[in-house]
Amino acid sequence: MDQALDHARRAGRWGDVPIGAVVVNPSGIVVAGAGNERELTGDPTAHAEVLALRRAAEVAGTWRLIGHTLVVTLEPCAMCGGAAVAARVDRIVYGALDPKAGAVASLFDVVRDPRLNHRPKVTGGIRAEQCARLLSEFFGSISDGDVSEWPMELASKASVGQPTEGSNPSVTATKTESRGSLLP
Ligand SMILES: [Zn+2]
Repeated sequence: MDQALDHARRAGRWGDVPIGAVVVNPSGIVVAGAGNERELTGDPTAHAEVLALRRAAEVAGTWRLIGHTLVVTLEPCAMCGGAAVAARVDRIVYGALDPKAGAVASLFDVVRDPRLNHRPKVTGGIRAEQCARLLSEFFGSISDGDVSEWPMELASKASVGQPTEGSNPSVTATKTESRGSLLP
């Protein structure tokens, strides 16, 4: 998760939502990693998980990442959960929950449906606070303007981490209100 967090931080530096992912091979070696590159590349599918899985498949020389583990800082969305199933990864490990778009626990579970013929194991909540803090800090730093102008998805990511009143002195009243309204 440390390396996934490094990728997340890098993504934040180039202006993408700080989410990072790595893929660990069956020997426990990190073979690929990526940060979110949606803004960087203008590609709507350039989520950290998809990029990391693609790079891991290049390393493995096959799309079948049997025995591999996908580690990501934020609960995967439906697309990335689907990609993990398609790649046949053995396990998904994630940090913070994404109550607005998460698709392996929060909103849906698209990876452990009994009708699927491949179902990765899922472990969540690893370094969750640290993963969520990156996101809150990122949205804190870009949100001096009107938060209502945030893209919906960005606003939803900011709700991760269960911020509490007064926990972050830099959070303005407006943002706190907005966060509050986004909490489940
Ligand atoms: Zn995704």
